[in-house]
Amino acid sequence: MKLTVIGFWGAYPGANEATSAYFIEEEETRILLDCGSGAVARLQNHIDLSTLTAAVLTHYHHDHIADIGVLQYSRVVDMNLQRTAEPLKIYGHGDDQPAFQQLGKKPFADAFTYSTTEPLGIGSLTCSFHPTVHGAPCYAVKVRSRNGKVLVYTGDTIYDEKLLPFISNSDLLITEASFYADQDASPYGHMTSREAALLAQRGNVRALLLSHLPHFGDHRQLLSEAKRYFDGETMLAASDLHIDL
Ligand SMILES: [Zn+2]
Ligand SMILES: [Zn+2]
Repeated sequence: MKLTVIGFWGAYPGANEATSAYFIEEEETRILLDCGSGAVARLQNHIDLSTLTAAVLTHYHHDHIADIGVLQYSRVVDMNLQRTAEPLKIYGHGDDQPAFQQLGKKPFADAFTYSTTEPLGIGSLTCSFHPTVHGAPCYAVKVRSRNGKVLVYTGDTIYDEKLLPFISNSDLLITEASFYADQDASPYGHMTSREAALLAQRGNVRALLLSHLPHFGDHRQLLSEAKRYFDGETMLAASDLHIDL
């Protein structure tokens, strides 16, 4: 399983970059976790859009779904030009039905709800979900590869120890780190670098990727702060960063 960071900004994209979007590939299975602003443009640095299997969405804030409409349109074009016969699959939660209803565009994109009780198989990958505490309903996503490697992406959340069993012993944890260690992130529904690292440490994960980064301060400070609280490998998200699992 290979991860490529497509977008890592919180709120809005930096110049020529993107907000939350993570591309995961294993064999013929190609999924995009979240589809933020700028994601469709930047994803094409890595793949032909007609080959994308599915998009999986943590929640319906703009910085996570801004490009889902144009991703649907790409499939309309690609199916009409017979570049693919496969509708795009889009998976989202059903806690906000008006938002969920926007995800499908038959016959080019099929929308499905995921649940916390039934693991979701997408090609060779298996996804499972756990609710987070955020300003809107949001779900962390766990992706298990065919050979048992595990990646967890928190989506947006406050520090919440109820996530620990879900992230426990994962090979890579992608967390949001929207604020610096000495700030108070929880009123905004987010985490600090310190909280992200504590989650990783207490969840005994192997490696931590800090993402959903803020438009203030120096991101290298987020990294140095996190390293004080987490013993494993700690990385800062960047456009086009590849991690092999
Ligand atoms: Zn966000
Ligand atoms: Zn959000």
